[in-house]
Amino acid sequence: MLTFDPDGLSCAQLDGDACVVCHKRWPRPRVRVGRFPDDAPVMACADCADALIPAPMATVVAFPSR
Ligand SMILES: [Zn+2]
Repeated sequence: MLTFDPDGLSCAQLDGDACVVCHKRWPRPRVRVGRFPDDAPVMACADCADALIPAPMATVVAFPSR
């Protein structure tokens, strides 16, 4: 779990209403990519979440099923 520095982020980002990476508010960011030092969730949109944490997600998606 990544910990993000809340310095320089907007209120919407701190509340999880805007993507922590690209500030996009709509569609609402749905992926929890980490937490703030006060344990509040850090939210990002799907595109940015892929860029932030590619390895675990790719492992799950790419795991072969028979
Ligand atoms: Zn984003």
